[in-house]
Amino acid sequence: MSSARREEMKKDIIPDMVVDPSSGKRYLKGRFLGKYFSPNMLISFYIFVTGIFSDFCLSEDLIPQMRIRGFAKCYELTDVETKELFAGKVVPKSLLVKQHQKDKMTQEINIHRSISHKYIVKFHSFFEDSDHVYILLELCRRRSLMELHKRRKAITEPETRYFVRQVILACQYLHTNKIIHRDLKLGNLFINDEMEIKIGDFGLATRLDYDGERKRTLCGTPNYIAPEVLGKRGHSYEVDVWSLGCIIYTLLVGKPPFETTCLKDTYMRIKKNEYHIPSRISKAAATLIAKLLKSDPTDRPNMDQILDDEFLHCGYLPARLPTSCLTMAPRFD
Ligand code: ADP
Repeated sequence: MSSARREEMKKDIIPDMVVDPSSGKRYLKGRFLGKYFSPNMLISFYIFVTGIFSDFCLSEDLIPQMRIRGFAKCYELTDVETKELFAGKVVPKSLLVKQHQKDKMTQEINIHRSISHKYIVKFHSFFEDSDHVYILLELCRRRSLMELHKRRKAITEPETRYFVRQVILACQYLHTNKIIHRDLKLGNLFINDEMEIKIGDFGLATRLDYDGERKRTLCGTPNYIAPEVLGKRGHSYEVDVWSLGCIIYTLLVGKPPFETTCLKDTYMRIKKNEYHIPSRISKAAATLIAKLLKSDPTDRPNMDQILDDEFLHCGYLPARLPTSCLTMAPRFD
């Protein structure tokens, strides 16, 4: 290996003691929280290598996006002085070379630092040293709804009502502040020790400049991608409503609504609005899912209307959930 390459690799190593050069604050690196390859990266890579890139790539800078998002690593970081614990998202500067890569990072930071809500991951601070950019976030120790779903598959209606209500409240706040998350999925719905939802990962989020604006590009591949994004027809807040529909379906049914073994087929089913709700799902839940998964974005309800929907009011809504829900179905008696 050349010495230049060795030097390069050394730069990618995150030190055990991270120092914010401007404040002098020191953080001890702890447990590794996040994966090296995000599903987003794998999907982007799949699209790229299977040659359907040109069909579904929404912006030509998908490849750099893949690299930034795939290689963000997340560690527990402890403030040495206060002993406060954070989730530290670390991005190597070697992946932030081109101006638009830096702009994406700046956009994620600027959006996330400007918001504050009970059900959104709190943005604590950010800084950089010579080799990395560090983002310090509220630590969510109970992982995300993705792990809960993988363990439990279909969960109960009261649990779904509990989690989904918190997601809607957070989205209502985001939309009021002209922010679209654009990648709501189980893996971005983090859970804290109180079993509260915290929406995270603002890597694909955008802020509307004016009411009625429709975004034309989306640099990346959202998990629960809406038909208007696939059709490049211009999109807005309704994409979060679509994703919410996919989330509710997945939580109650145990698998995503448009799932196939091949991404191209999944996108085809989304475009044709081809999904089936099993008969065991309650009428209120099925009706809400159908409203959220309307092909035409103008037919979907907004977050205020969803909050008033029958599904959220027709059955038991737990005030809190025990952590045992992460592994087994609760008994509500
Ligand atoms: P990416 O842009 O790579 O999708 P994420 O923000 O989703 O980045 O973070 C990557 C991983 O880091 C997550 O899947 C999760 O495992 C972990 N992570 C991110 N934020 C937090 C947090 N606030 N608390 C705990 N773990 C987190």
